This record gives sequence, structure tokens and C-alpha cells, in this order.
Amino acid sequence: MDMKVVILGAGGHGVSLAYHLVKKGFKNVTIIEKTRINYGSSGRNAGRFRYHFYTKENVEFAKEAIPYLLRMCRELPLNPVCMKTGYLWILEDERALEAMKRNDSLWKSLGVGGKFMDCSEFDYLKSDGQCYLAPQDGSFHHDYLTFGLYEEIKGQVTMITGEADKLLFSGGKVRGVRVKENVIDADAVVVTLGAWSGKFMAQNGIRLPIEPEKKEIFITEDLKYRVKPLVITSKVYFSHTLKGEILGGVEDKRERGFLDFDVSYERLSIFLKDVRRLVKGAEGIRVLRGWGGYYEMTPDHSHVMGFSSTWPEGLYVDAGYSGHGMMFSPYSGKLMADLIADGVKSRFIDVFGPERFEKNRLVDERMVI
Ligand SMILES: Cc1cc2nc3c(=O)[nH]c(=O)nc-3n(C[C@H](O)[C@H](O)[C@H](O)COP(=O)(O)OP(=O)(O)OC[C@H]3O[C@@H](n4cnc5c(N)ncnc54)[C@H](O)[C@@H]3O)c2cc1C
Repeated sequence: MDMKVVILGAGGHGVSLAYHLVKKGFKNVTIIEKTRINYGSSGRNAGRFRYHFYTKENVEFAKEAIPYLLRMCRELPLNPVCMKTGYLWILEDERALEAMKRNDSLWKSLGVGGKFMDCSEFDYLKSDGQCYLAPQDGSFHHDYLTFGLYEEIKGQVTMITGEADKLLFSGGKVRGVRVKENVIDADAVVVTLGAWSGKFMAQNGIRLPIEPEKKEIFITEDLKYRVKPLVITSKVYFSHTLKGEILGGVEDKRERGFLDFDVSYERLSIFLKDVRRLVKGAEGIRVLRGWGGYYEMTPDHSHVMGFSSTWPEGLYVDAGYSGHGMMFSPYSGKLMADLIADGVKSRFIDVFGPERFEKNRLVDERMVI
């Protein structure tokens, strides 16, 4: 295939799209990345997957995307170690319990129901209240996923290190991208810039409501008790790594913007305090390391994939996954490749397309973890 496709950003989504285009026989695929593969959120996440969202639309997307992720885990040359470990919500008060009953009934109707349980049934927890276990969910390693995809196509795509700053278009069509003083010609340009997508589009006069929200995440020393599922409270989430350390973060909202990637003592102590409070044997545990990253926030906490009829022809986007984009990267790369290469428009591209913001068809996802 001679069509020139330029992909902006080498995170999970950009690399996955490149992988799927190459598998379809595309010979002219270029990725432009300002820093390095997985520099953004794709190298800074918790590596968890789930079917369980607040909206039917996102559960239905996950029902296609997660089996696809699990299939890629089996097929890729590097092993992302996909495992079903479950998600476990600690329902700390009546409100949390009522909210979970509503979710449970949606999830059951979509075939991914979980189970209300007494928290004391989990030997690693100190809590004895009500819990909800979603056993279908799990974990994987994000770096091995992206690098596994890249391993399959390196040498077959052009990788340019540099910051894309300007979209070039004429006659209503995309013509290329400018990287410093160089122009890279393109028949199609795909914006997979994660948290930077809104900024890049704004620079080019196009409104795409995606903003960064900084998050911090920590890893402790390893622990005797294995916290198998991802445990979620209203304040923190955590789970064990393969080695038995506790990996997790704080559930808080903060101002939007490109804040520094450092970690704060304040969030480290919230995380550590809750792990020590909730996990048996974690009383004196310390943090080994921590880092920052961005969730890519849209007004309805759901991703943006496809194109808009008001954009230049040949311009596409796949971004804005808030805190759940890593697990979706293999499948969204496939859907975007089907669209660009074959003109096959999945029903999800109608649901999650960028025009929903103008047409007021928001998805109303509320379960950002
Ligand atoms: C703390 C944390 C925990 C998370 N936990 C999970 C989880 O458990 N499960 C899950 O599925 N998801 C999780 N996520 C979300 C997930 O990481 C992201 O949704 C996903 O990685 C986004 O991938 P991406 O390829 O769209 O963007 P990114 O990985 O951010 O890639 C964008 C790339 O674009 C590059 N770039 C930016 N501007 C330019 C430019 N102008 N020119 C060229 N290149 C540029 C950046 O350097 C970057 O490499 C988490 C995120 C964070 C921060």
C-alpha cells in the first residue's frame, strides 16, 4: 500500500496503529515521537485491565477490547504477562454500596457481573465491611505490550524523533506535518498524542477537548501477603506486582495542566497510610519509588476515536482515554487501522467520535480509576 500515514506519538496507541497498518501491508508508515517510545502515560501506568465501567458504551467497548488484549498477550514476541487477578472495591459506606448495586445490575445485564462479598473473606485485608469482586479484570505489563508490538514492525516503519508542531493542509485535505524545519508529507495524519493531543490540535486551530490531569503512583517494598486483585477505595487503589510489592496511587482530582512529573510527599503519605491501614502485615512498609504521569481527560471521561466532518480530510484522532487507555491500545489500533486502510467504520467510532462534543452526545463515564 502506497498511502502515506503519519502517526503522531509513540505511546501504546500510536505503536498499535502502526502495527496494525503494517500487518495490512502498509509500506509507508511514519511515527513521529518527541522523546522516546512509551515516554508518556503508556510508560507510567498501573498496567491493569477491566470490563467494569459506569456506562454501557465503555463496558461494550471493553468486552471487545479486553479479549483482544489477551489475544495479543499470547501472540506478541515479548510477554506482557496478562493475568486475571480481579478488581476489588471496598464499599466504605451506604452510598458506595448503593452505587455499586446500580453498577452490578448494569454489569450483570451485560454478562460481566461480579459478586458482593464480606471483605473478611480476603485474607490480606484488615477491613471487615462490604466488598465487591469483579473477577474478570486483571493485570499486564504496559512496556512489554508496546515494545512487543514495536518488535514486530521495527524496520518496517520510519521512526522520527522530534516534536510535531504544525499540521499542513490545503484544499480541505491533510498534506503533512512539520517537525522543526522539516516537512513530512502525508495522506493521513493520526493524532495519538495522549494528554498532549488537545494542545497540539489547539495549536492548529482545532478544538479537541483533551486535557492533562497529573497523577502519582508508587511502589512499596514487597510484602508477605499477596494482594491479588486491584483494591479500590474512594481514596486509593493498589495491588501487588509479580514480585509482591504493592503498586498503587491516590484517587484525587487536581488542576488540569502539564505539571511536573515529580511526586509529592502529601500523596505518598495518603497512599502509604491507606496501604498500612488496609493490608495485613503492611504496618511498617516503606515506599521504594514513585513517579508522575498524566490522565488524558475529556469532558465525559471517555476516549475520542475517528474523525470529524469539520476537519480536513485525512486527519484522525485516537486519544483521551483518561486512566484506562493502556488496556485499550491494541484494540483501538486495530479499529483505527480498519478505518484508515479499509474504510471500515466500527460502531464505536460513531459512539466515541469527536463530533459528540459539538452534538452534545456525551457518554457520561464516571468510573475513572
Ligand atoms: C498513573 C497512571 C496510571 C494508569 N493506569 C492505567 C491502567 O492501569 N490501565 C490502563 O489501561 N491505563 C492506565 N492509565 C492510562 C494509560 O496509561 C493511558 O491512557 C495510555 O497510556 C495513553 O496512551 P497514548 O498512546 O494515547 O498516549 P501516551 O502514552 O501519553 O503517548 C503520547 C506520546 O506523544 C508524545 N508527544 C507529545 N507531544 C508530541 C509532539 N508534539 N510531537 C511528537 N510526539 C509528541 C509523547 O512523548 C508520548 O510518548 C494510567 C495512566 C497513568 C498516568
